Amino acid sequence: MSKSLSRIYPLLTQDQIAARVKELGIQLAADYAGKDLVVIGLLNGVYPFFADLTRAIALDMDVSFMRVASYGHGFESTGEVKILTDCDTSIRGRHALIVEDIVDTGLTLHKVRKILMDREPASLRICTLLDKPSRRRVEVPVDYVGFSIEDHFVVGYGLDLEGKLRNLPYVGIYNPA
Ligand code: 5GP
Ligand code: MG
Ligand code: MG
Repeated sequence: MSKSLSRIYPLLTQDQIAARVKELGIQLAADYAGKDLVVIGLLNGVYPFFADLTRAIALDMDVSFMRVASYGHGFESTGEVKILTDCDTSIRGRHALIVEDIVDTGLTLHKVRKILMDREPASLRICTLLDKPSRRRVEVPVDYVGFSIEDHFVVGYGLDLEGKLRNLPYVGIYNPA
């Protein structure tokens, strides 16, 4: 970790993240009040954001997870998206909210959205901590965005560098050179 830590430049502090998560929680609680809500996290990257966000939404909800992999290692998602573990909670007729760490090309969410739409939820929305709109290859409706960022490869607060650095408590830009 120490070797890669020297290549990380802080982008979002723990305090900035916490403040924004709190705002999102308030907004989501207002939008989903009185609704049968299922919040679905996309593992692995979402784990810290999911835990913080769901606890900031003062409503009854079901929580569930899907594990997906964009094939390939390193900095690029290949566009080949594989469901490793499916969500085991029924969303038919219920209000489903997908929670993701970052939307980059949009390929992952495009596919996940399609799969979940086939299950006929009453509604399906997307909440992401980070969005890199300049990188989009397919259009995907992102309803709630924590932070919109420039085209940088970021790590921490769930986001990995080849499996590592997810447990950094803040978000940083990884600069390999
Ligand atoms: P997409 O399918 O939208 O291109 O990418 C989605 C996935 O690619 C994210 O869930 C994340 O796992 C990975 N990803 C995209 N951009 C970044 C980034 O800047 N840093 C890290 N660590 N992962 C990223
Ligand atoms: Mg992800
Ligand atoms: Mg990754």
